[in-house]
Amino acid sequence: MEREKIYWLGAHHCDVCRKMNPPELYNCRTNLGVWGMLCKECFNILGVGLGIGKGQRYERQEDGKYLQVEGGSANLSGTNNSNEPIEGD
Ligand SMILES: [Zn+2]
Repeated sequence: MEREKIYWLGAHHCDVCRKMNPPELYNCRTNLGVWGMLCKECFNILGVGLGIGKGQRYERQEDGKYLQVEGGSANLSGTNNSNEPIEGD
């Protein structure tokens, strides 16, 4: 079964520190309870983890688009080794 490529179509900056076009963006729930688009640095501080209902990781491609690489589906979450999800609210 072929994996569907999912691109982020929103703004390319971090909602917290306003960094433009970081190498990675996280569309995630924060420990403040609100969702946002975070760069890696801010995600490490504020993110609650990756997965359905928690967050998705996007990587900037050579063409400038952000491709979802983690956290969006059962397919992708199986490869979640690098970022251990923080469980519990
Ligand atoms: Zn940031």
